[in-house]
Amino acid sequence: MTKRHAEIVGAGFAGLTAACALARRGWSVRVHERADRLRTTGAGIYIYENGLRVLEAIGAYEAAVKGAPFAHTREVRDGHNQVISLHRWTGSRVFSIVRQTVINALAGAAARADVEIVFNSVVARASADGELELADGRRLKADLIVGADGSNSRVRDSLGLISKRKYLIDGCTRLLIGKTPDEHNADGATTVEYWSGSRRMLYTPCSETEVYIALTMLDSDEIAKGVPVKKDAWKRWFPHLEVLIDRIGEQGRYDRFELIKLRRWSAGHVAIIGDAAHALPPNIGQGGGCAMMNALSLAYYLDRERDISEALSIWERNERPITDHTQRISVLLGLPTTWPPPLRALALSIAGRSKWLIRQRTRTALHRPTGA
Ligand SMILES: Cc1cc2nc3c(=O)[nH]c(=O)nc-3n(C[C@H](O)[C@H](O)[C@H](O)COP(=O)(O)OP(=O)(O)OC[C@H]3O[C@@H](n4cnc5c(N)ncnc54)[C@H](O)[C@@H]3O)c2cc1C
Repeated sequence: MTKRHAEIVGAGFAGLTAACALARRGWSVRVHERADRLRTTGAGIYIYENGLRVLEAIGAYEAAVKGAPFAHTREVRDGHNQVISLHRWTGSRVFSIVRQTVINALAGAAARADVEIVFNSVVARASADGELELADGRRLKADLIVGADGSNSRVRDSLGLISKRKYLIDGCTRLLIGKTPDEHNADGATTVEYWSGSRRMLYTPCSETEVYIALTMLDSDEIAKGVPVKKDAWKRWFPHLEVLIDRIGEQGRYDRFELIKLRRWSAGHVAIIGDAAHALPPNIGQGGGCAMMNALSLAYYLDRERDISEALSIWERNERPITDHTQRISVLLGLPTTWPPPLRALALSIAGRSKWLIRQRTRTALHRPTGA
C-alpha cells in the first residue's frame, strides 16, 4: 500500500499531537506553522489523566512532565481568604506544566516520528477534495488535511463549518513568575484559586523554578485586564496577596474566553481539531486535553477505516460526545462569576461536595482516550 500523506495546519497542542499520531501509524506528515518557531503563551497548563495518556501514546510524556509538580490538591478561597471548596485528585494524575515544555516535548516526539515542520508557512484555505492553498498561492494535495489552526481557523472558515462562535463575558491574563526559595522547597502540589468579587487569581507552581499566575476578570473590567498588570488595583482587591502580586513583572497576555461549535468536524478530506473545532472556557482546564484526545483518535479511526471521509464521520460520531460534555460543563462552571459573592461561595461549596457535580466535572479527565 502506498504511504498516505497528511498536511497539517498549526503546530500547537492539536496539530503536533495529530502529526505524531499519524506519523507513528505510517503516514508522511508535514505541518505548516505561520510563526517562525514553536512558541506558546508564557504560562502554565494543567494536563489531566486523559491528556497524559495521549502524551504517553505518542512518546512525549517523559519530556512533558519532567520537573512538573503533581498538582493533586486544588483549593478555592473566598474574598476573606477562607477555603470554600477543596478537591483532591486521588487515583488519577494531573500535572501543572510550563506550556512551552509540553510544546517542546510534542515537537521532540514529532521529530522522532519523521514529521516535517515548515515555519513561516501561512495557510489561506483548504478544499474538501484535499487541496491546501498557502498564502503565497502555492497549492498542495494530500490524502488528509488537518485544520489545527486555533480559534481563528482559516481552514475551518474556508469550508463554512462553523455553527456557533460566542465570545464569553470573561477572560484571563496569564503569566509566569520565578519561585522563591520557600516555594522551591515546597512540594508544589496545592494550587489555589482566590476570588474577590468577579475577579479571580489562580496560583499554580508549574516547574522546579516557576509559578503560573492566571488573573481572571470580566472582559468589561478594563483595569483588571490591563497588561502590564495594574498591581496597585489587584492589591486592593486581594490585600492578603500583596507579597505575591508584588512579584509580578511586566509580562502577561490577556485572552477573552470563547465557545466554538461546528456543524461538522470534517468536510471530505479535511478534519478540524483543537480550538478550531471546539474552543471552550478554561474552567476545568480541558481545552488542550480535548485537543490532544481528538488528535489521537483521529489517527486511530483513519487507521481502521481506509475511506477518509467515512473514517472522519465515525471519528466525530464516537468522539464528539465527550467534547460536547466538556464544553457544557466548562460553560456551566463559569456562570457563578457574575453572581453575588455569598451566592457564589454557596454554589462553589456545593459544587465541591456534590458527588454528581464532581462526576460531571471530572468525567473528561477520567475518560480513556481512544487510541491510548
Ligand atoms: C486562560 C486559558 C487557560 C487555559 N488552561 C488550560 C489548561 O489548564 N488545560 C488545558 O488542557 N487547556 C487549557 N486551555 C485551553 C488550551 O490552551 C487550548 O485549548 C489549546 O491551546 C488549543 O490548542 P490548538 O493546537 O487547538 O490551538 P493553538 O494553540 O491556538 O495553536 C494553533 C496554531 O496554529 C497556528 N496557525 C494559526 N493560523 C495559521 C495559519 N493560517 N497558517 C499556519 N499556521 C497557523 C498558530 O500560530 C498556532 O501555532 C486554556 C486556555 C486559556 C485561554
